[in-house]
Amino acid sequence: MTDATTKLAQLIEAASKITVFTGAGISTESGIPDFRSPGGLWTQAQPIEFQDFIASEESRRESWRRKMLLDKTIDKATPNIGHKAVAALVDHGRCISVITQNIDDLHFQSGVPAEKIIELHGNSTYATCLDCGKRFELAGIFAAFGKDESLPVCDDCGGLVKTATISFGQPMPEVPMIEAKTAALSCDLFIVIGSSLVVYPAAAIPFLAKHKGATLVILNREATDLDEHADLVLHQEIGPTLSIACAAYL
Ligand code: NAD
Ligand code: ZN
Repeated sequence: MTDATTKLAQLIEAASKITVFTGAGISTESGIPDFRSPGGLWTQAQPIEFQDFIASEESRRESWRRKMLLDKTIDKATPNIGHKAVAALVDHGRCISVITQNIDDLHFQSGVPAEKIIELHGNSTYATCLDCGKRFELAGIFAAFGKDESLPVCDDCGGLVKTATISFGQPMPEVPMIEAKTAALSCDLFIVIGSSLVVYPAAAIPFLAKHKGATLVILNREATDLDEHADLVLHQEIGPTLSIACAAYL
């Protein structure tokens, strides 16, 4: 065990209210590539911006093509020990909220109750109408798109149907942003796990917690811009670190 891992275990033990903030890094051990690591999603294709999705039928087709391809990976993914450690902290009443930038649903699948999860960038396991918000399941969309690339439209209002995720250029969802700020302001220990902390406004949330007086921990195998503001920085692998630091709760 490294000194930093021991220190993290002590901070978790001493805290009365923990908020966890996760990024794509917590899911790489489940086989879902992150954005910015070597081999990550960005090295394969540029993301489709929201404005392009709205304006161009071809962008929408490309977006659904990628989604079908990506789901071959995401569908097989299951929660790893990192997700399970976070779920254990919630289960033991140590962690009050899990704020996530992830869209893969793995916190929920690891057993964290939906009301404790704050999804800043939505959820990719279903789709919604951009106009009326009606929910659509992916299976039906994939069946039609797989046949002749016909694009989904809302059968209630005719609006465009998109995965329930927040694309670059798309406004952040108001309610999760408010909930995330509240969770940041109400904890005494804020742990950032596997986020490069470069996507704003999400990356501003750890600052809020720190500013309010919480202890800030950053767990990432690489340095982040916020490291200098953290009380404890662990440049380590997530699964092995959390399985030790949270051993008392697993
Ligand atoms: P990111 O790719 O920018 O950063 C991931 C960070 O995790 C990197 O800094 C990397 O060093 C670190 N990391 C990766 N695996 C690790 C491991 N096993 N141990 C320790 N550190 C590890 O991801 P981000 O900051 O979450 O921002 C990307 C955006 O892309 C998110 O907002 C999210 O919406 C989206 N995204 C989501 C998923 C997902 O749902 N799983 C995957 C890719 C991208
Ligand atoms: Zn609609």
